[in-house]
Amino acid sequence: MTSSAASGPGHHAQLWQESDLRPVFRFAPSPNGYLHLGHAYSALRNSELARQHDGRFLLRLEDIDLDRCRPDYEQAVFEDLAWLGLVWEEPVLRQSEHFSLYASAVEGLRNRGLLYPCFCSRLDISRVVSGLRDWPRDPDGGPIYPGTCRHLSQEERARRLASGQHAALRLDMAQAVSEVGIRLAWRELGEGEEVRDVRAEPQLWGDAVLARKDIPTSYHISVVIDDARQGVTDVVRGKDLFDATSLHRLLQILLDLSAPRYRHHELLRDVTGQKLSKSTRARSLRALRAEGVTAQDVRRRLGFSS
Ligand code: GLU
Repeated sequence: MTSSAASGPGHHAQLWQESDLRPVFRFAPSPNGYLHLGHAYSALRNSELARQHDGRFLLRLEDIDLDRCRPDYEQAVFEDLAWLGLVWEEPVLRQSEHFSLYASAVEGLRNRGLLYPCFCSRLDISRVVSGLRDWPRDPDGGPIYPGTCRHLSQEERARRLASGQHAALRLDMAQAVSEVGIRLAWRELGEGEEVRDVRAEPQLWGDAVLARKDIPTSYHISVVIDDARQGVTDVVRGKDLFDATSLHRLLQILLDLSAPRYRHHELLRDVTGQKLSKSTRARSLRALRAEGVTAQDVRRRLGFSS
């Protein structure tokens, strides 16, 4: 499962020729649980690609969710990746140290009239949509936001905010798409070595939340900002984030950020065919280690030769 032997250096030279700079890869876990084999695969793919293309390999901690991320999980990320034999550049960017940067990007979008405050809870939303047949869902399966708070008057918004009600900030998708005005696409390598353009369809996400009620940002905002400022040229991550890339592409245009190439790789599945994830309690790397599995066993099992 490593990048295929058929793709020789000549072929790669073509892909990477546009810039004289070394390609930059990153692995960006959220320290909200222990890493499992799926993470190991993604981290190894990034590090292998960096090695093959004389690139840089960065580790970024996506720890904006202060309730779920924990220092011991963060420590475990370092230990598990080092155990796998990975070497990354220091210092490691920790997103929780950059809230003000993300917040100011959010504020900029808000000042342009592209965001509106949303006071709805999940329950409010499900109450609205449960009565409606075949209500559309986003690629993650959540209901498309029915737009309740988009229609509030300025006075009502101001009144609720002044009374201390917490609000998330949602993107007015129709407005954003019309402001951009062009068809968006991103460059995707998939499992192969040929780049194709994938049409971005951010509308599939409806009025996505860009700043949560409890934190002044969201995964989508922080990831595009950090990929750009860290000069990431190649985002290599699981296919579960393929559809989110549509939204990322829109945000890159709105925030005037550079766009990396993407490679969305296959996800590892357990014997029942379910994708490995923290929520399905995939066995962690440290549990495997405690059972006597070696880093070399893991690398081999994942298709990395050494
Ligand atoms: N932090 C995300 C996760 O752990 C990955 C983000 C990305 O690679 O873009 O699922």
